[in-house]
Parts: sequence; structure tokens; C-alpha cells
Amino acid sequence: MLIDTHAHLFYPNFNEDLDQVVDRAKAAGIGAIIVPATNLASCEQVINLCDKYDIVYGAVGIHPHDTSEWDEAYIISLEEFAKHKKVVAIGEIGLDYYYDFSPKEKQISAFRAQLDLASSINLPAIIHNRLSDDDTMDIILSYCGTGLKVHLHCYNASLEHAVRYISMGHYISFTGNITFKKADDIRELVKNLNIDHLMLETDSPFMTPVPMRGERNEPANVKLVAEKIAEIKGMTYEEVCSRTSYNVFKLYGIGSESKSSLTYPLHDSLYINITNRCNADCVFCSRKDEAVINGYDLKLQKSDEPQASEYIKLIGDPKKYKEIVFCGYGESTIRWEVVLEISKYVKANGGKTRLNTNGHGSYINKRNIVSDMPGFIDEVSVSLNTYSRTQYAELMRIDEKMFDEMISFSRTVKESGIPVTMTVVDMPDIDIENARKLAVEELGVSFRIRSYF
Ligand code: SF4
Ligand SMILES: [Zn+2]
Ligand SMILES: [Zn+2]
Repeated sequence: MLIDTHAHLFYPNFNEDLDQVVDRAKAAGIGAIIVPATNLASCEQVINLCDKYDIVYGAVGIHPHDTSEWDEAYIISLEEFAKHKKVVAIGEIGLDYYYDFSPKEKQISAFRAQLDLASSINLPAIIHNRLSDDDTMDIILSYCGTGLKVHLHCYNASLEHAVRYISMGHYISFTGNITFKKADDIRELVKNLNIDHLMLETDSPFMTPVPMRGERNEPANVKLVAEKIAEIKGMTYEEVCSRTSYNVFKLYGIGSESKSSLTYPLHDSLYINITNRCNADCVFCSRKDEAVINGYDLKLQKSDEPQASEYIKLIGDPKKYKEIVFCGYGESTIRWEVVLEISKYVKANGGKTRLNTNGHGSYINKRNIVSDMPGFIDEVSVSLNTYSRTQYAELMRIDEKMFDEMISFSRTVKESGIPVTMTVVDMPDIDIENARKLAVEELGVSFRIRSYF
């Protein structure tokens, strides 16, 4: 699913064919469109669109262009509009010193009053900023600590500002402008910003992406924005869609994928969500809370754990992926027979497999599972976590003897000729250097540091 977070579908350009525009959006895989109002009259239109189209959500607010008549009493109307269940934000609001259609002071007081409203009713705000970077930043900064979250739409300020916004937990979106010939600076921004804070938008009817530039823009074209982001960031189209949609879910609470995912693509590989069960209870493991990776909900009840055949159907041709990785929010070897059956299928069909594990598989299965691996498991990645036995036990809330178990498992895998990588999470208090020494110098395996969020 992909989401267009900014489309002014109430513009007269859509009067003739809005039904078809929405149908085309659905056909393109768009699950939600956020339509931000620009003045009180369009707030009313936005509400009507929310009622008429299932995939339309609204934002209500006064655009900086329309603030010349700004009156504090507008807040009462906006608050009333915001009560509609499909209104998910206050917007679009902000500052525009390029066109200067409204006096600066009016723009600023309207902007502040609407941010106050957003913060008091716990809705995010959609921000328009054109040539007003410093004032926009100063005003947003003044809301730090209030819990207010904002979405900077059609972003074209500096990377430094973008990083500051992201560090405050705000979100940024780009339009078809990232496809324009002379937009190298914006593409550079896209390249440098973390996808976990980016969203997609069209800004319809404006900002039509290449190759449709010059025509009226519409939500279906958000696909081209996603494709461009995938190209710039070297990600797959599916990953851009799922991660940006998840960001929309986090900010606006819409478009969540409620069904749990049994597989999820990441980089060029396909990850297999085998179980949420685990024999450990690591302090840094979030499997009991959100269990979401890149927009894929990996919550899996024991009663819903599928058989190997179901995963095999989802994998299809394993050669499409760099590797098939057994990894989820749980310890895959708890379902070792299922892992093995899937691996046999993958190997028989020309694919590669990797097992990510805590290294307790033989203990869990009460037998040496490593002897099953040659020919079926191509690589094993073991969570070393730390070189210290006591710290291992504390981190995993498990008996110290499991540290020895994990070390001996890793050694056995290596001796069977399967490449092993041991990993640690770069949390404070972890002695990375000693962990590296243990893995590389003592055990002779590879070593990797995973980042801790
Ligand atoms: S071993 Fe892995 S799945 Fe199990 S609790 Fe630790 S981090 Fe979570
Ligand atoms: Zn705008
Ligand atoms: Zn807009």
C-alpha cells in the first residue's frame, strides 16, 4: 500500500472527474489520501470528500496565502471541523514569504494560533514553508516539549533543518519535484534523510512528476514519487511504500496493515517470520510491544503460526531474493522442523538461506540441530550480545550457562563448514572491542555491530 499525504482534491480542476481520479488512485495501490484544506470554505469541502470517499482523510486549516483576513474566531470553526472522525490533522498551515499574499505578521499569528489548536486537540499539523525557513524553524522549535508533531510537506529547505526536524520526531514529505531535471539538491536531501521519517505526497493538482509534467497532477502519480525515492535511496519500491506508509500510520493513525506479515522484504532479501516465541527475554527486545519492522506487523500468536507450506507459497521463486532469512520477533529454532522444511525447498529451488538465531537451538530442541544444517542452511548469524557471561545473563534475563551454550553452538556451526557471523547491539555499556576479539580472534568467525534504536 502507498499513501498520498497531500492532495487538494477540492480544486476546481477535479470537478469533472473526481470519481475516476479516486478509482485510478485505488487501482494504483493507494490506500489513503489526505486532503488538506486551505481556507474555511475548503474545510467544508474536505469534510464532504471524507464522507464521500472511503480512502479520503482530511486536514483542516488556513493556508498562509489565505491569512490576510485572519481572525482568531476562525479557530472555533476549525476546532468544530476537526471533530470529524476522518480529520487527521490541522493543515495546511505555515508561512510563505515567496508569494507574500498575506502580510507576514498575519501569517505568523495565524500559524501560531493553529499550532496551538493542533497541540491542544492532539492532532499533528501539516506545514507549508516557502522562503520562510528560519521563522518556520523558530516557531516549530517553540513547541518542543508540547508533544506536537508536524509534517513538513513539499520539503525544500536545508538538510541541516531537515535533520533538526527529524531529531524532534517530525516528518518530511516530497512531491513530484524530486523527479524534476533541475532538482539535484532535493534528490540529495532524499538520499541523506532517514526513510523512517519520510512520507510521500503529490500536492495535486500541482507538482506533477516527470514524465507527466505540465499536466494536472493526481494521487495515482504518487507511485512515481515512490519509484524515484527507491531509485535515489537504492531501496525496493515495495520497501519505500511499506516504510513510508508505516510513518503515516505512526503520525496520522491511518492506513495500518492490521494483518500480521508472515514474510517481509528487506533490502534484496526475504525475511521469514516464523514465531514470536523465544526462550529468552532480552531487555532490548520489543517483540512483546509493537513488533513492527518497516511497516510489517510481525505479531504472531502461537495459534496462528503457519505450516511450512504456507511460507513456501509466499516465497515462490527463492532466486528472486539475495537470501531467505529466518528472522522475526522470536527465536526461529523453536520451530526448527518448519525452518528445515522451508530451507529444503529454498535449496532445491536454487535459493540461499540464512538463519538468525540466539544460538540456543540445540538446547531448545534437546539435540544437536547443527547436524541438520549442511546443504540447507548457507549462513548463520548468532546474537553474541556481549563477551561477558554475567552481562549476557542480565541482558537476556536468562541463566548464565546459556552463554556457554551459544558459544558452543557457534563453534559447532563453524566446524561444520557453515559461515558464522556474531553480532552485538551497540548499546551503551557494551564492550564492543572485547566482543569483537571473542568472535574474531577466539572463535574465528565474522563480527557485526547492529544499531540500537
Ligand atoms: S533472543 Fe531475540 S527474539 Fe529472543 S528475546 Fe532476545 S532479541 Fe528477542
Ligand atoms: Zn503547500
Ligand atoms: Zn498544499
